[in-house]
Amino acid sequence: MKKILVLHTGGTISMTADEEGNVKESQQNPMTQLGVTLDHVTLEILEPFSLPSPHIRLRHMLELYRIIKEKADTIHGVVITHGTDTLEETAYFLDTMNLPNFPIILTGAMRSSNELGSDGVYNYLCALRVAIHDKAWDKGVLVVMNDEIHAAKYVTKTHTTNVDTFQTPTHGPLGIIMKHDILFFKTAEPRVHFDLDDISGTVPIIKAYAGMGDGIISLLSPDTIDGVVIEALGAGNLPPEAAKALNHLMEQGVPVVLVSRCFNGIAEPVYAYSGGGVDLAKHGVMFVKELNSQKARIKLLIALNAGLRGKDLKDYIEG
Ligand code: ASP
Repeated sequence: MKKILVLHTGGTISMTADEEGNVKESQQNPMTQLGVTLDHVTLEILEPFSLPSPHIRLRHMLELYRIIKEKADTIHGVVITHGTDTLEETAYFLDTMNLPNFPIILTGAMRSSNELGSDGVYNYLCALRVAIHDKAWDKGVLVVMNDEIHAAKYVTKTHTTNVDTFQTPTHGPLGIIMKHDILFFKTAEPRVHFDLDDISGTVPIIKAYAGMGDGIISLLSPDTIDGVVIEALGAGNLPPEAAKALNHLMEQGVPVVLVSRCFNGIAEPVYAYSGGGVDLAKHGVMFVKELNSQKARIKLLIALNAGLRGKDLKDYIEG
């Protein structure tokens, strides 16, 4: 007999559309009312909070980590239902925490519980099928939506409303859900894990654009922020004025992490002109590999809260 811990946390999967089509929180979460029975599986169902995912903060992610850690000796897997807007951030956070190698699956829905073609119950059942599958061990935290299995590290929400919204740029999904089985094409890469009791800090994300000046960056200071993630252009370049303002921040000890605003590919220092990646790297900008800006922000916050500084911080961020 396998025991799966189910954590319902809110989001469209738990919401209901009214007569005008406005989607709202349900009086009672429909996911907790489902009578799901699976052979040789028991479910322990908890609802630690019920929030639209734009309301999810780092402390909610930490709470999920704490609950899973506490239950770890008595369970064989975890399914978390979550709003899709920030699902990838919670998935990445948990993937970076020190959890056992049993399956941990996040899922959600793009259509609320009473909408035509609602995908919530289907995605939930698929997530349970993955969670009880032996092949899903040792794969890191996974996101299961629309018959696909994605690695927490790479998956991202790509469409505002389409059920096929979760995609993995550059790599493609880790696996698929078949009618009678699940199939993995790839294994998970080794990852560094942390065990945090607390997490705090302010790390804004700033997006670069043609003609960007020093304006918004020059308003930042080490008194108000702990780090910055810059979503740079192309392979990892910035307009010269923006680069200069970031250099000034770094001289004051503020760590700066760079990702590309491109959907595919990996940011790396290639160009040696003023504001180019080579110039930025020389001044101490850390190039994070293959994360989008919202996950790079979580990576930096985790690292800072774990006490990493200087070379250790750079090695972890760029590793
Ligand atoms: N706005 C919703 C949320 O993230 C979207 C969803 O769950 O699909 O809570």
